[in-house]
Amino acid sequence: MSIEIATLSDGTSIRYIPEVIGEGAEKTVYFTEDRSSVICLYKKPKEDSILRRKRLEAILGRFNPTIGDKNAKYWKELFCWPTGIVEKPSIGIVCPSYPKNYFFTAGVLRGKEKQGLWYFGEKASKLLNPSEKGTWRDFFAGCIVLARAVGRMHRAGLAHSDLSYRNVLLDPVIRRSAIVIDIDALVVPGIFTPRVLGTKGYIAPEVMETMNLPFEDPKRKLPCIHTDRHALPTLIYQYLLRRHPLEGPKVNSKDPDEDEQLSQGKKALFIENPSDKSNRPNDIKIPFTILGKQLSDLFLKAFVDGLHDPDKRPTATQWESALLKTWDRIIPCSNTGCPNKFFVLSDTHNIRCPFCGTKPAGQIPILNLYKETRPGQWQPDGELVIHSKTALCMWHVYDNIQPGPDVDKTIQAYCAFRGGQWLLINQKLTGLISPGGNSVPTDKAVALINGARIRLSKEPHGRMAEVKLIKV
Ligand SMILES: [Zn+2]
Repeated sequence: MSIEIATLSDGTSIRYIPEVIGEGAEKTVYFTEDRSSVICLYKKPKEDSILRRKRLEAILGRFNPTIGDKNAKYWKELFCWPTGIVEKPSIGIVCPSYPKNYFFTAGVLRGKEKQGLWYFGEKASKLLNPSEKGTWRDFFAGCIVLARAVGRMHRAGLAHSDLSYRNVLLDPVIRRSAIVIDIDALVVPGIFTPRVLGTKGYIAPEVMETMNLPFEDPKRKLPCIHTDRHALPTLIYQYLLRRHPLEGPKVNSKDPDEDEQLSQGKKALFIENPSDKSNRPNDIKIPFTILGKQLSDLFLKAFVDGLHDPDKRPTATQWESALLKTWDRIIPCSNTGCPNKFFVLSDTHNIRCPFCGTKPAGQIPILNLYKETRPGQWQPDGELVIHSKTALCMWHVYDNIQPGPDVDKTIQAYCAFRGGQWLLINQKLTGLISPGGNSVPTDKAVALINGARIRLSKEPHGRMAEVKLIKV
């Protein structure tokens, strides 16, 4: 095996195998000798060389969440962030190899990257090995991580500019997580105007509509944070509903190229637009509203109000928050043959799994959470639907804690159905108080009886939970 040596901008060198392992429009990719990283060499090293270098330095330096940030280790798992700039043999970057869990291990796709199309592409998904399918809830978990990662970039002022099924890998089986890749094309404020428009299907309508104008024309719209805010919900919609939000039956021109340009640009129309149904496929059995109010509202904002008005699109952080709130309403389907295994309990008057139609048996307890605004005054602050896997974590117990990278994830209490009733079993809570006012020590339980009010913690910001039993 021959080995070549690349020199990095910090003066160090790295040994790599000069066999091309991947190739994109812009770069050629090689493994380093130990295969822990790849080096990507630009195909046109002279193009925009000063700006490119400035941009790479900014991405590796002051905009880099994987160094310096107090949660650097966490962000490192969510991004394949470049770790060095290659100077010789030509300009390029060093990136970590994708973690092993982002490659399929079974079936005909073995060794391929876990790109979105393998899950939601109509033909591509037929190649997926059953052991690689994950459950609907695992994709939901991946979407939370994805929204969090994009939100982190946006808070730093960076736009990805090409979020698509290719530049996000989601693993629903091993780690139930996602990673954002191809970071070197990031739009760095004040340094770089993107030349790449994005990937078909994820390009925001205003970019599509103005793509034929000269780059210098002020009316020309280019990828930025607002266009990421179109691509992100497109991916979430695809992962959770397995279809594209804008690809419907409506024809906008007899010319196929012009039709595509219009249908994704000026005339783009959400297939589930509640008032204009002209792009709605006949076979939608599972409408987006099954995702519950929080996510439905955001999809309407993204694909109706904000489709042609970028300022109205929800932020990545709003997506993360809505996904987290909805996560607390996901329950397992009692049908073992259900294709998706889990669903969102959205309508308490008509509870049935939207994927297979099964009605759960018995009663479902919901914990209505309250926060104390003034001593003795409680205000509704979230809900948690109880099932056999429900765990209460710090962010359920305290109103000032949000789930995120630096939060203690240990289970504080959990729920179980024993002796004909639902129980909340204390694991770690020191101030759990029963409806009767008694302290509930660890390993002891409190019954979840309709109307019971349980104080989850006596400490400041500790929440109260009120039990509501829903008859199915
Ligand atoms: Zn089901």
